[in-house]
Parts: sequence; structure tokens; C-alpha cells
Amino acid sequence: MNKFFRLTGGAVLTLWTALAMGAGKESNMSDTWNKLTPEETRVIVNKGTERPFAGEYVKTKEPGTYVCRRCGAALYRSEDKFDSDCGWPSFDAEVPGAVLRKTDADGQRTEILCAHCAGHLGHVFLGERITPRDTRHCVNSLSMRLVPLADSSNKFERAIFAGGCFWGVEYFLQQAKGVIRTTVGYTGGRTKNPTYKQVCSHTTGQAEAVEVVFDPLATTYENLARLFFEIHDPVQLDRQGPDIGDQYRSAIFYTIPGQKETAEKLIVQLQAKGFKVATKLEPAGAFWPAEAYHRDYYKRSGKQPYCHIFTPRFGSQ
Ligand SMILES: [Zn+2]
Repeated sequence: MNKFFRLTGGAVLTLWTALAMGAGKESNMSDTWNKLTPEETRVIVNKGTERPFAGEYVKTKEPGTYVCRRCGAALYRSEDKFDSDCGWPSFDAEVPGAVLRKTDADGQRTEILCAHCAGHLGHVFLGERITPRDTRHCVNSLSMRLVPLADSSNKFERAIFAGGCFWGVEYFLQQAKGVIRTTVGYTGGRTKNPTYKQVCSHTTGQAEAVEVVFDPLATTYENLARLFFEIHDPVQLDRQGPDIGDQYRSAIFYTIPGQKETAEKLIVQLQAKGFKVATKLEPAGAFWPAEAYHRDYYKRSGKQPYCHIFTPRFGSQ
């Protein structure tokens, strides 16, 4: 909410406002929230705390994404969960943009809340030196629901976008509403399981890309594809600003036929506005996740993307 993006022309607006503009209409989202049990209400609405070691996720190690039990927004990933022995599920990082921090009513601790519905999650503690990130999100199990990785393919849809350096593309897409998880990686080329060094040598044909898993009940492929066209410059061929070469090409790798049609429709809209779109549409093939140090790059470094900027291109359509 407090992230601002400079537009061409100097105007400033929040990404959320920008996304709402792109989405066109936004219904009253509270209508779509899950109905809570009295126990869940006590924690999520009335900021209660469940008993230590009593929650269902205290010891859980199953891979997946923890979503808000009330609104379904992605909050934490299993990779960031660690055993703190404190009696509540502990994470040393949140899904970027998913968690708000607020000084607790006790004036001492820092409360954490779901950024989408403001539901109470628990508290965050710094300086305990338990993990290298030195952060412990202490979260009530009742505030979350684990969506196991194995179930993701049934409920969620997958999209793959390539638009220059994957750090910047991921930075924006991972903050979009309805996005459950993002993965930076390589796709569209010949070399299997390439390294970043191999990709940079321009011999693999692989493009830097971002795989997005999203909840079709919370957003649409069109919303995300539209955002993709507005966070990179789709008229640049085999480059994105200072990054030059086919690894930086603009491409959409569609995972189901309907995605291709949606992308074609958006490209026609851009062409009608005079954009000579260089974006290629290709069927999705193997996607090779990139090395761990590329993941959440801007979130971890605290820097701003150098080559991606939110620029409205569709007007008010
Ligand atoms: Zn929520």
C-alpha cells in the first residue's frame, strides 16, 4: 500500500490504484470472504491468540502456500517457514506486499495483518537471530489455510511471462491481487536446466521469465496479462532498456488455449493505439526455476527495479 510508482508524465499513484484501474471494476470484496467460525472470528476479527502448540500448522512442513483464512490472499510460503519452538507457526519472510505491520494495542509489539482484508495474523519480532533474515512472523494457524503445492494445479491457473530482467517482472507481478506465488526461471529455449551464466552467454535460447500461479476466483488472466504489458515495454525487440539479447525478449508462454486468445486480444488493442508490439506468443514448455539468489530480488535487496516501471498503455478500456 505504501509503495509508489512514478508514471511517465510525473504522476504518482499506488500500484493498487493502478491495478484497480486495470481491472476496471472492483466489487465489494468482503462479499467474497469466507464465513468464519466463532474460533476464527476470535482470532482474525477480535485479534485473539490461539493457545501455543495447539494450532494445526505449528509443525507442518508440507510444501505449499499459506493463504488468509478469511479472504484467500497468499500470505506465506512453506520455504520461509521455520521451527522456532515458540508454539506458533513461524516464518522469516512474507509474500511481498501481503502483510501489514502496525504497532500493537499494547504499544510494544508489532501486530501483523493481512494486507487485503486487514485480518489479524499475529505479531512480528526482529532481532532474535534465529534465521539469517532475523525476522519471525509469529502467526496463528487459525488465521491461515495451507494450500498444498500438490493441490495447486486443481484450483489455480498458471501463467508465464517474459519481459526483460526477471527481477523487475517478478517484483510487479508478485504484488498483483490474486497471485499465489511467483517463480523466476528460464523457458522457451533449448538447453535443459540452464544456469544463469549459460543463459547470459546467449547460447541457450532461454528467456528470463516469471511463472505466476494465481487464483482465478480473485483475479483473471486478462488482468495479469494487461499488467504485464504495462510493466515492460512490449515494443522493444530482444531487449529491455539496458538489457540486450534474446534472453530479455518479450514473450507470453500460454499454458492453456484461452490465454493465447486473451493475449492476442490485448495485443490488437495495443496495436490500435499505435504500439508496434514485439511480444511473441508461444505455447509453454519446460520452465526451469532460476538459482535461489534471483528469487524476490528487489524485495530482499530493498532496491527499486532499474528497468521496469508501471506505465499505463491501455487507457481507460
Ligand atoms: Zn485476508
